[in-house]
Amino acid sequence: MDGRRLYHVTFSRLARLKARAVRVQDHQDEERIEGACGRTVARASEVLSDLIARPLAPGLYLVATPIGNLADISLRALSVLARAELIAAEDTRHSKKLLSHFGIAAKLTPYHEHNAERERPRLLARLRAGQAVALISDAGTPLISDPGYKLVRAALEAGLMVTSIPGPSAALAALTSSGMPTDTFLFAGFLPPKSGPRRARLDELKTAPATLVFFESAPRLAKSLADMADMLGPREGTIAKELTKLHESVTRGRLDRLAGELSSNAALKGEFVVVVAPPAEDAAEASDEKIAEQLEKALKIESFRDAVRSVAEVLQVSRSRVYELGLKLTAKRD
Ligand code: SAM
Repeated sequence: MDGRRLYHVTFSRLARLKARAVRVQDHQDEERIEGACGRTVARASEVLSDLIARPLAPGLYLVATPIGNLADISLRALSVLARAELIAAEDTRHSKKLLSHFGIAAKLTPYHEHNAERERPRLLARLRAGQAVALISDAGTPLISDPGYKLVRAALEAGLMVTSIPGPSAALAALTSSGMPTDTFLFAGFLPPKSGPRRARLDELKTAPATLVFFESAPRLAKSLADMADMLGPREGTIAKELTKLHESVTRGRLDRLAGELSSNAALKGEFVVVVAPPAEDAAEASDEKIAEQLEKALKIESFRDAVRSVAEVLQVSRSRVYELGLKLTAKRD
């Protein structure tokens, strides 16, 4: 056997041995993972059984529920919902689906913005009588752009026990997957539906040194983004769509680009959260004088519209601010 053949035989035997070792390793890994999964299922079931076996103390339980994926319910949420004497839900028909999925046959009562004034005293009376009442919304964490704040205030003022069973919230899921700074953020809920008040609100928020988080509905998303791009300046944004659901998507880009892409997408569907990066650090420092000085220069070589756009971009300030100053500047000249 010459040297090359010996090398070839040794090499192919080694390769076969290696492949067999990999198969054995894969098999062992599979067994290990299957074993661990089995233990997790058994342990989770034990934890839930232990929780459910205990009596539920009287009080108001604010229970977070999934925002699209039923598997996101927590063991504590299940144990509270299964034991509560009453569950106050925004939409009882909607919540029945969640409860029956987990075999919970609790008593439900509606609590939403249209009946809250009437229902609140009834819920408080039950709490005073020593009952355990859970509050849930259609999805996510109650009170976060959902009913419940006044009920919590009233319960606390009456000296009743109030506790949160934390879990999913679209606001935090969007923030954490946005890639934006998370050290300081401002949850701004839904913006006003009409452009005037919406722009006024954005004007209030534009100097906040924080990542901004907004809820938005599909029909209003494109217009809201256009107003954000205009009022907040050239910042990065993230559109988080259908989080935790089959068609989840997270799109990142500059606000004006995101707005431009959406404006051509007429039939938008789904649920959305918009996350906007904080203002650039020097944006707060750009004085009117600085903007006017840059505008003077830009106007020598560009149209009014282009000058406004480029100065806003360079100084990281909103286009509307530059536009207003530009109007004053040109009025003085005329
Ligand atoms: N309390 C809920 C929470 O904590 O997530 C939010 C309730 S608010 C009435 C509903 C809004 O939340 C929707 O319009 C949308 O902006 C956002 N949202 C809820 N579920 C979502 C999801 N799966 N993906 C993206 N946004 C969602």
